[in-house]
Amino acid sequence: MADKPFKVEIKNVNKTYRSHGRQVEVLKDVNLTVKDGDFVCLLGPSGCGKSTLVHLIAGLDKADSGSVLVDGKPVGVPSSSRAMVFQDSALFPWLNVLDNVAFGLVMNKVPKKEAHERAMNYVRRVHLSKFATSYPHQLSGGMRQRVAIARALVMEPDILLMDEPFGALDAQTRMVLQEELLEIWQQSKRTVFFVTHNVREATGLADVVYVISSRPGQIRAVEKIDVARPRHAENATLMNYQHKILGILGEEIEKVMRDELGED
Ligand code: ADP
Ligand code: MG
Repeated sequence: MADKPFKVEIKNVNKTYRSHGRQVEVLKDVNLTVKDGDFVCLLGPSGCGKSTLVHLIAGLDKADSGSVLVDGKPVGVPSSSRAMVFQDSALFPWLNVLDNVAFGLVMNKVPKKEAHERAMNYVRRVHLSKFATSYPHQLSGGMRQRVAIARALVMEPDILLMDEPFGALDAQTRMVLQEELLEIWQQSKRTVFFVTHNVREATGLADVVYVISSRPGQIRAVEKIDVARPRHAENATLMNYQHKILGILGEEIEKVMRDELGED
């Protein structure tokens, strides 16, 4: 019997952006494989191609060469089975929390009553029941990201693509949302791609951390984080991983600085 295909498989992917006669080689010979249900973090210096990689998996962009496979098939057009959450996920300001979360279902012709029931289930899961009838401008940044997460989850995606979703939040809120996300992930066991440039965040969350090099982005290291959950920040093994990853990341960031400052 054939082996079950990987949930996500990226093979020899290259991507160069060309604009105004300038070329930016963003991804170079990137390879990675992700098992169904894994929580993967992509970590790397700013501009190394993390968002580009996520966009390729989402189907928002195409690789120049190589392949991006989900369940063994090439990724096609964007689909709600690969839901995205961004750093500042724009909610519809004229819709309340419940209607924001229900929006995708309503667009998919789910009857309004059912859409609201299903949406409310996810509003509850992100602890916003009391705010179901509030509007986005009445919410804190953390609450708005919770709505964005509920809006992605309500579509019951196979893969949740999160591009620095907590990047704009204060440290306290960030920690609370990390815990909530893990709780949701442990209940649903969906595959998660989570982009961050925060090493603690990556090691706290991930089964596997991919460290991407400075541009052109290549996989610089793959660390399987073998620490049981719930993880405690002071856990010695976890700190070893952080130390190791920080070392690698530090080298890559230095390269970026040298490039930008023009030093040798
Ligand atoms: P990261 O998310 O790791 O910060 P990105 O994937 O957003 O990096 O971008 C990598 C590089 O590609 C950056 O230099 C960025 O300016 C460039 N880039 C990204 N998208 C485009 C685009 N659509 N057109 C031209 N250049 C782009
Ligand atoms: Mg980015």
